[in-house]
Amino acid sequence: MDINVDNHPCFNPKMCHKVGRMHLPVAPRCNVMCNFCNRKYDCVNESRPGVTSSILSPQQALTYVEKVFDRSNNITVVGIAGPGDPFANPDETMETLRLVRAQYPEVILCLSTNGLGIAPHIAELARLKVTHVTVTITAVDPEIAAKVYAWVRWEKKVYRGLDAGALMIRKQLEAVRLIKEAGMIAKINTILMPGINDGHISEVARTVAGLGADVMNIIPMIPVEGAAFASLPEPDRASVTRSRLLA
Ligand code: SF4
Ligand code: SF4
Repeated sequence: MDINVDNHPCFNPKMCHKVGRMHLPVAPRCNVMCNFCNRKYDCVNESRPGVTSSILSPQQALTYVEKVFDRSNNITVVGIAGPGDPFANPDETMETLRLVRAQYPEVILCLSTNGLGIAPHIAELARLKVTHVTVTITAVDPEIAAKVYAWVRWEKKVYRGLDAGALMIRKQLEAVRLIKEAGMIAKINTILMPGINDGHISEVARTVAGLGADVMNIIPMIPVEGAAFASLPEPDRASVTRSRLLA
């Protein structure tokens, strides 16, 4: 049976009350420190902080999928979105995708990432028929990105400040380009942070549209206790609407 990419509730509003998705918490570590994250919650890559997941090994994750599929026949999507970043845990992420794909050739496989570590895995993701990838991109200006990431760890080196911001943007935009070249559907999640990137949303939108991104989703930041941005105000409804219109 073929994969029906339209059966994705996060990408197709017509399906959001008809079919469901499940997430496999196989990725505990993260390779960056976003100032809106306090690490006690699932990755905001997924949508917004929720509750901490318990971690599963790839084999446990497959068993979990089997149990859920035995009970329910309306799950069409299996996603990996944290609680850290899938590609700060590439071995676990890729092994889980291989196991699930081998057993469920028709299920939609979906990933959500900060984009830093995905590039070396894109060819295999395409072979495994991963069809949907979300990349969280908060800025395309290194000075703004420098305010968002306290640090970035890449190839055993830790980057901070402008170097961290520039590295993240380079890797994230490369990721979107490669995801599109591989024929996958690319969604961009942009966290709207008052006083940080609220005047910059249309520029992010223009840049990612130029790379072929399919969807952009503006997510208002929810300040979480313990995060560096805990005291930033939550964006008001008008600024969220304005940003969505500008994007
Ligand atoms: Fe938290 Fe950012 Fe890492 Fe997600 S990518 S777990 S939001 S630090
Ligand atoms: Fe939806 Fe995929 Fe994001 Fe999960 S990872 S919330 S399935 S888009």
